[in-house]
Amino acid sequence: MATLRFNALKESLQRSKVHVEESKRRSELFGQNVFNRQAMRQHLTKSSYESVVDAIENGSKIDRNLADHISTGMKEWAISKGATHYTHWFQPLTGFTAEKHDAFFETLGDDGTSIEKFTGGQLVQQEPDASSLPSGGIRNTFEARGYTAWDPTSPAFVWGTTLCIPTIFVSYTGEALDYKTPLLRSLQSLDKAATDVCKYFDRKVTKVNATLGWEQEYFLVDKALAESRPDLILSGRTLLGHAPAKGQQMDDHYFGSIPTRALDFMRDLETECMKLGIPVKTRHNEVAPNQFELAPIFEEANLAVDHNSLIMDIMDKVGERHNFKVLFHEKPFKDVNGSGKHNNWSMSTNTGVNLLSPSKKPMKNLQFLTFFVNTIKAVYEYEELIRATIASASNDHRLGANEAPPAIMSVFIGSQLTKVLNELEKVTDGKLSPDEKTDLKLNVVGKIPEILLDNTDRNRTSPFAFTGNKFELRAVGSTANCAEPMTMLNAIVAKQLKEFKVEVDKLVKNKKMKKDDAIFNVLREYIKKSKKIRFEGDGYGEAWEKEGAKRGLSNNKTTPEALKAKISKKAKALYKELKIMNEVEVEARYDIQIEDYSKHIQIEARLLGDIARNHVIPTAISYQNILIDNVKGLKDIYGNSFKDKAKEQMNIIEAISNHIEHINKGVDEMIETRKKANAFEDEVKKAFAYCNEVKPYFDTIRYHCDKLELLVDDEMWPLTKYREMLFTK
Ligand code: ADP
Ligand code: MG
Repeated sequence: MATLRFNALKESLQRSKVHVEESKRRSELFGQNVFNRQAMRQHLTKSSYESVVDAIENGSKIDRNLADHISTGMKEWAISKGATHYTHWFQPLTGFTAEKHDAFFETLGDDGTSIEKFTGGQLVQQEPDASSLPSGGIRNTFEARGYTAWDPTSPAFVWGTTLCIPTIFVSYTGEALDYKTPLLRSLQSLDKAATDVCKYFDRKVTKVNATLGWEQEYFLVDKALAESRPDLILSGRTLLGHAPAKGQQMDDHYFGSIPTRALDFMRDLETECMKLGIPVKTRHNEVAPNQFELAPIFEEANLAVDHNSLIMDIMDKVGERHNFKVLFHEKPFKDVNGSGKHNNWSMSTNTGVNLLSPSKKPMKNLQFLTFFVNTIKAVYEYEELIRATIASASNDHRLGANEAPPAIMSVFIGSQLTKVLNELEKVTDGKLSPDEKTDLKLNVVGKIPEILLDNTDRNRTSPFAFTGNKFELRAVGSTANCAEPMTMLNAIVAKQLKEFKVEVDKLVKNKKMKKDDAIFNVLREYIKKSKKIRFEGDGYGEAWEKEGAKRGLSNNKTTPEALKAKISKKAKALYKELKIMNEVEVEARYDIQIEDYSKHIQIEARLLGDIARNHVIPTAISYQNILIDNVKGLKDIYGNSFKDKAKEQMNIIEAISNHIEHINKGVDEMIETRKKANAFEDEVKKAFAYCNEVKPYFDTIRYHCDKLELLVDDEMWPLTKYREMLFTK
């Protein structure tokens, strides 16, 4: 009997209920462990408090003397919450969060006295010597100097017994070594560009924030079952496993009643989130069995990104308490829906206006249309960069495979807004007559809110969809750090808005046009120019691939192919112009990702070879031996006529041999191809070799292993089966 699998199954079936404490109202818990404005008011002097608020709102520098006051207040608050340690909490280019804990505890001299201490210097800046984190060659380890610096725009929090201080991570030469630094720079660019454009409509606008509401999809698999699968543990996905007789075809899981164990996990998780000020709001079953989704109320983008990174970590830990392994991988199970992370994005002003929300007032709607059309134009200009930014080995299983969304980037806006844009396309070239303007305001621009209300058609196959008052970038992978796609989106829209302003100002100055005439004129041209990126049809269909190609849209199906756009002249110029990343930083990120891709496929290839050879083949041979004994026995009994009785057994014996042969040959060849790939010094060539030469073996090897799963005695099969992982609740 396959002991590990059956022990795991037994364990999973004997789970007892985990108690979840939910005594307080959530609003009472909210932000309890966050050093938010309320806590700061209590623990800081007035001038310290004001300097932090000024840093948050206006990006001003915090005076060194005040930093000492702030750190002391923060320490006292943290200790009152049970903290013993502090850490700079940052997001290096590994894609995970990083922390190095130091105790507040310190001894004083030789007299044996000790105190709790946390200085302004320790709050503001640290040198964690994290020299093994990826830098893409920016740091050489012999001069391993990188430092973390406090980001006051994201409040400190206590998680467990540690005070966590969100920080950026940069090299001493100033290059970003993390995801947060470019994100913050992109937010500044967008703020500047969007505020300038807002001033056409409302002089009171002095700041624009990007907003993000992410939706996180994930799977929950019983811990014992997950841990019985070496592939899940080491690569986050199953490299083999036959589809269960029943999958998601009945749609009986989606939006169904949440299984009790999963619900307990969610309640526990949400309680932790409340304390940490993460405003989680929505939970539901997703399409695949044991797949779920979690979504918060949207927040300012930097904070939302931090909260998403934090929550992935918390989910892991709360999962352990409930004996679950949380799977974030984009495609943990073949033939079963994968997971994504929709990034709902918009812009919001200091006056409280959502710039992508239509209004009742025609003039406000011109503002809405301005931001709406500029975003579409930005996506049109940079579609290939968008694809590049969400590329990863694991996300390739969704994009470019036959699952949503496709690798072709397009924008869905719905039929009603399409009509509006079609009308705007007809606007007169040059100055508008009073009649035309009145008509536009009354019948086109003025009608938007009304029509949007009954605009219920939603296209789930679109990678970038307008959903009423925000755009939704749906192609982001479930394992991804949202910072990268958000940095890119802020950047391309900032750049586009800058250009828009230049063009409008030019028409006003040179052609003596009125401001709104000029705006209509520029928007008209943008609508015409960016038409190719708009697509309302089925994004999964083959027809769209053909149509997309005709329109000249990129369709980069694999990561090595897609990543090229990241180091294109256009991308480098974009980031350089907006001072988000210099060329060195852009190249470094590309290098890291290209290498990361090869490593990823290499690990999977080794794992698959190991499982196929050391688990599958020996099991198949054992079972084949049983059959051989059986055939021999039949021969003993029936003599020469045994073949009539043993025909089926002999067929299976032969089928097993045949599959074993293919697996073994496949693994041999895959190893040889890997050796050739490893021989490339050029990391780009290596990545392409892994993608185009090594990876194709996965399917053939898997095919024969999965066939054996169907032939071999269930009791002997060592790998926990799909039905067991997906349907154990
Ligand atoms: P769905 O897209 O699944 O139908 P919703 O429309 O309710 O769900 O929103 C999904 C996510 O979009 C939520 O996380 C929500 O907070 C976020 N969201 C809503 N409005 C905005 C906005 N203005 N900016 C950013 N995110 C938003
Ligand atoms: Mg959504």
